Amino acid sequence: MRLTGLSGQSVGAIVGRLLQQGLVEETGAESQAGVGRRPIGVKIRATGALAFGCNIERDRIDGAWIDLNGTPVVSGSDLIDRGEEPERTILRVEELYARLTAQLEPSLMANALPAIGLGLPGPFDPSSESLMNPPKFPHWERVNPRSLFSPGWKQPIFCENSATAAALGEAWQSRTELRNFLYCHWGVGIGGGLVIDLDTYRGVTGNALELGHVPVVPNGALCECGSRGCVEAEASMMAVCRQAMDLGFTESFDEIVFLATYEPLIEELLIRAGFLLAQALLGAVNLFDVDAVVIGGHHFQQVSKWLLPPVEAALNDLTMRREVRSVSVKYSTLGEAAGAVGAASVVFDKLLPANPPLVATLVHSRESANVSH
Ligand SMILES: [Zn+2]
Repeated sequence: MRLTGLSGQSVGAIVGRLLQQGLVEETGAESQAGVGRRPIGVKIRATGALAFGCNIERDRIDGAWIDLNGTPVVSGSDLIDRGEEPERTILRVEELYARLTAQLEPSLMANALPAIGLGLPGPFDPSSESLMNPPKFPHWERVNPRSLFSPGWKQPIFCENSATAAALGEAWQSRTELRNFLYCHWGVGIGGGLVIDLDTYRGVTGNALELGHVPVVPNGALCECGSRGCVEAEASMMAVCRQAMDLGFTESFDEIVFLATYEPLIEELLIRAGFLLAQALLGAVNLFDVDAVVIGGHHFQQVSKWLLPPVEAALNDLTMRREVRSVSVKYSTLGEAAGAVGAASVVFDKLLPANPPLVATLVHSRESANVSH
């Protein structure tokens, strides 16, 4: 109650509704001295509702049904052919949805929310509900993803920028201490999401936190956004592969990771990427004054040995708030599932009833919360 800032009466009414809907369960009456109603412990019933999400990346789609703890109940992926038409990709999404839904235990089917969360690259135009020429996504110029679903598809489709969705997934799954943080996706591209007081910040057009397009090298490498020296063009996985190839080495990322263990030139490339990523993150932390930076992405863990130390050093030693409170840097707790879990958590965000601060507090505390109702 204290965490939500709501009155006892309000909390009681909301919890009553949540109990009715099977989203929370009682953990028994707590003993208390004095008169009046005894507080009742309640906690989230993890399988009280399930949500499906699918994240579309340049080379793959990842889908998952998640429970109210943000834990994937079933999950799966499909690889995308290079240069694939969006129609084919959305068909893959429908097929993945059908395949993973068929894997749900029959007892859970009744709690599966009839909707889909779709994690997509930016930029996005909310007025036409279309993607606006996302970098490295040929054929997706002015495409409205909803319009590509089969005519028989009836469930609501909630679209969200992939990195914002992943940030929401982190907020949903992590504990209350992760209330204000910056999420950074590191992979083929670099994306960002911002969570302020457990809510995502989307900006006026839903395109906030395009972290990958923060310039870090004056007159640097040409970026697909049209600018030069963006951190995505200088320090993403794709940038590192291009730089390795320019030096006469392989462009295979797995081979680059292996080479970095004994080839100083390759190691230098990765350390440089870490310093440039650190600059972009340092600027964002100074702007938004967040408590943590969470870094995710399929491939980040492979190179965290080189990329993380410069990031940690910059955020520990150079943020303007360093004398007030430190900024923690962590690898996503969701790991490879971040995209799918994030997309699914968008469904919870849109469809779950009642009061978000209370639901969030219950979800995030994991322990039972005491209320009178
Ligand atoms: Zn750019």
